[in-house]
Amino acid sequence: MPPCLICQTATVPIMDFGRMPIANGFLTPDEFASESFHNLRVGFCPACHMVQLTEQVDREKMFHDHYAFFSSTSRRMAAHFERLAAEAKELLTGRSDPFVVEIGSNDGVLLRHFSQAGIRHLGIEPSTNVAAVACEQGIRTISRFFDANLARELHQEHGGADLFFGANVMCHIPDIHSVAEGIRILLNPEGRLIFEDPYLGDIVDKTSYDQIYDEHVFYFSVLSVQRLFEKHGLEVVDVQRQDVHGGSMRYVLGHRGAHPVAATVGAQRNRELVQGLDRPETFAAFRARVERSRERLMEELGRLRREGKRVAGYAATSKSTTVTNYCGITPDLVEYISDTTPIKQGKYSPGVHLPVRPHEAFCADYPDVALLFGWNHAGEIMANEQAFQDAGGRWLVYVPEVKILS
Ligand code: SAM
Repeated sequence: MPPCLICQTATVPIMDFGRMPIANGFLTPDEFASESFHNLRVGFCPACHMVQLTEQVDREKMFHDHYAFFSSTSRRMAAHFERLAAEAKELLTGRSDPFVVEIGSNDGVLLRHFSQAGIRHLGIEPSTNVAAVACEQGIRTISRFFDANLARELHQEHGGADLFFGANVMCHIPDIHSVAEGIRILLNPEGRLIFEDPYLGDIVDKTSYDQIYDEHVFYFSVLSVQRLFEKHGLEVVDVQRQDVHGGSMRYVLGHRGAHPVAATVGAQRNRELVQGLDRPETFAAFRARVERSRERLMEELGRLRREGKRVAGYAATSKSTTVTNYCGITPDLVEYISDTTPIKQGKYSPGVHLPVRPHEAFCADYPDVALLFGWNHAGEIMANEQAFQDAGGRWLVYVPEVKILS
């Protein structure tokens, strides 16, 4: 089996989703013939407990000048990052001329709060189209992939960082050792690394297999994050659950011994041991639940088609690519996907080629049922779509289980 990307131990296979297109690769019909596919396979390392993709897609195929994910599109996420910025600014009190670095800074959804406060900052964002949006707002951003070499360059040019952020990006980078080493180089002795990513414990608990796609190379737990960063002299000093992206974990780290370790770290580790995140059997049971979820979803969509009901997808998320392709959801089952992101509208979803239509099309002619691909924003979406429900529309959800909400 392929070696673990963290410790080189042979991984145990967990799940094989088969051939998959690029999750965020929404495309036009003239691009169908040249669409790129890869194997989506997941493995578990019995030694360091890292759950990971065992085959990776070239990063340039995912992060480029037409990256389709703009962080600020979600008001909920924008508010989440505003709160993080406010809390993090407290940590800078008393520091003269502090310096804040963020990787995967996207359109500046977090850094804008430091920029507006006149705090020295730098975003590192390889997808040039989203980086350009940040630059236009005066948020200092460079379009590079972060690694240890870049960290050395930046340290020479700017000095050390007091805060180093990474939201929903650390889990994207296969050469994570180079990133961790870069952080060790760039972080000041008293500095803090704060990062958050979808949490393995939630994925297992909710059977949210749609979190698994090409960009997400790692599925972190406290157990695996500790092992990874200790190799670079960095220590997890706090962890905090976050109710975003279907369940995330925020990890706070510092140089070993620089900060006291909060009780949350040991407590969460113990919960993970009880949940079995250190054992392959847990993931065999997860696979069985995923397979059952696929059967149930296809039964439900087949029944709706037989009854002549019109079904539309709601939110053309990256996650939806795993569900539509793994389950085989073709346009005869789901007419189109409604999405508010202009760059996706008029295009087709990766692999199964469901048309993506503007939200206005959804409102103009409601379907009978909306398949909720954006389930992680269910509260916000359902509140906004009261008129759809009032008109008799119903939601089909598949996390944590397949059911039609009445
Ligand atoms: N931080 C934002 C958020 O949480 O909404 C954006 C997350 S988005 C899913 C991941 C971002 O990481 C993309 O904008 C991508 O271009 C960027 N990225 C990918 N690899 C990177 C690397 N090696 N260094 C810095 N950024 C990277």
